Amino acid sequence: MDVIAPLMVVLWISALIGTPRLAVQKHRSGGLWFLIAIPLGLIAMGILMVLPSVPDTKAGYDQQHALQGCPACGALIPRRAVVCQYCQRTLTSRR
Ligand SMILES: [Zn+2]
Repeated sequence: MDVIAPLMVVLWISALIGTPRLAVQKHRSGGLWFLIAIPLGLIAMGILMVLPSVPDTKAGYDQQHALQGCPACGALIPRRAVVCQYCQRTLTSRR
């Protein structure tokens, strides 16, 4: 019985599942890497493992748009706000 072909299918399916997950962990496009994994299978996953993580644009975005409570009025304002949009208090930069 030929076990290579079913094994390849299993590996290919794992690549289809694993590659987008890995891509997302590396701040890359999960959808794009899913499409890449369809023809390439584990090769796509290997390529992705070698590629460095994208400098976390999403984390940067989250950090930039994350909310914090204004120390003066308690309103939720962007963490990077310099002046509270509600009470107009100037916020000392503390990151
Ligand atoms: Zn405020």
